[in-house]
Amino acid sequence: MASTFLDRFATTSFWQQSIGLPTPEAPPGEGLKIETDLCIVGGGVIGSSIAWFAQQAGIEAVLLDARQPALGATGRNAGMALCGIAESYASAVEQYGRQAAKELWQLTIDNREMMLGLAARLGVPSERCGSWLLADCAEEAEALAGSARLLQADGFDHHFASTDFFGRGFLAGLHRPADGVIQPAHFNRALLAASGVRVISSAAVTEITPAGTGLRVESSRATIHARRVLLATNGYSALFHPFFQGKVHPRRGQIQVSEPAPLVFPVAGYSHFGYYYFRQVAEPDQPGMGRWLIGGARHLNYATENHLTDENVTAKVQADISAYTARYFPELADVPISHRWAGTMGFTDDGLPLVGEMPDQPGVFFCVGFNGHGMGLGIKVAERAFGLLTEGRGAGMFDWQRLKR
Ligand SMILES: Cc1cc2nc3c(=O)[nH]c(=O)nc-3n(C[C@H](O)[C@H](O)[C@H](O)COP(=O)(O)OP(=O)(O)OC[C@H]3O[C@@H](n4cnc5c(N)ncnc54)[C@H](O)[C@@H]3O)c2cc1C
Repeated sequence: MASTFLDRFATTSFWQQSIGLPTPEAPPGEGLKIETDLCIVGGGVIGSSIAWFAQQAGIEAVLLDARQPALGATGRNAGMALCGIAESYASAVEQYGRQAAKELWQLTIDNREMMLGLAARLGVPSERCGSWLLADCAEEAEALAGSARLLQADGFDHHFASTDFFGRGFLAGLHRPADGVIQPAHFNRALLAASGVRVISSAAVTEITPAGTGLRVESSRATIHARRVLLATNGYSALFHPFFQGKVHPRRGQIQVSEPAPLVFPVAGYSHFGYYYFRQVAEPDQPGMGRWLIGGARHLNYATENHLTDENVTAKVQADISAYTARYFPELADVPISHRWAGTMGFTDDGLPLVGEMPDQPGVFFCVGFNGHGMGLGIKVAERAFGLLTEGRGAGMFDWQRLKR
């Protein structure tokens, strides 16, 4: 197992900058040698969740990151912890079946509750502001109406508006009052700190080989001898190992954030089947003011956004995002933009994460492929991966072996 990792980044998110990331680079190490039970590769929300579960279970762990924890997608996202995934409940029922869709929605609710609970405990800014899925075309309005009927029958809390609730030109909306938002980079770092695991930054893992009864993990700064390894490398996975090529597709997402403006939309919004997402981030020192955060427009830019692992922004995507603001939130269109950034997501063909053990490498586990929903699903899927690696428990609908069927 060998790899190269694109150890570079071009943009810094509002979240990362607010907590002082990136910190100055560690000097090149002397070649640390460490023995541990579990070696976690990747310090995003998934690696940090695994670290936290390891601490709860009394398992000694070391976490390696090619750059620094929270510099990947987790420090670059929109910070929405929502019920469900981008597809409407109706299309999830159609794609996965009623029972699986129900299980998936319940898992995102459990994830949201755990994340907001942990955020409160760890002092991470978060808010249960509720979310709205807003239809910008007739097809989406129909999907939301169908979803509302199924959500009602399955007992999920929601309100459906068949009209333009916000008076902004949307055709319908689905409100989930218990959904929340979070400062994602802060959460990532706080969870990792709370886990107490040893973290080694600037340590790109290049090779994992059998060594005695365990595994030797080679990285640019340290060699780890571990009984088991967990890969939490999401959108970067295919750079690391060919097993993930064709299974986890890197996709770039871009965001922009404005200077503070009067609060006009203090909830989490999702539109065009998740291709646009937006919220206003309250300014702690300026009551009634918030920064407009909006991302998306990938569907208009597949040629540039669907094959990349760099974190540059492009003028075209940024202009498409601005055009959406001008259309639906015209009062925010002229507020100067203070931050623009990009991040790398990992997509799978069926829209569900992949959890499992490498077929040719016993003891090397993975938990990847979050399809732009790692905040909504991540902790609870990581819990399944942790159950697999510690007790051999099945990962259910996330088991990667479904790809073979
Ligand atoms: C623009 C954007 C907006 C998003 N908005 C939302 C949202 O609002 N809600 C939501 O639920 N999800 C959202 N997402 C998706 C979410 O951010 C991801 O699903 C989630 O962060 C994935 O977490 P992770 O820990 O798996 O990956 P990451 O956070 O990307 O972490 C992976 C880590 O692995 C490290 N790594 C990779 N290769 C190696 C190697 N060889 N050696 C050592 N380390 C390595 C990387 O340096 C990185 O730190 C968004 C994503 C983007 C890009």
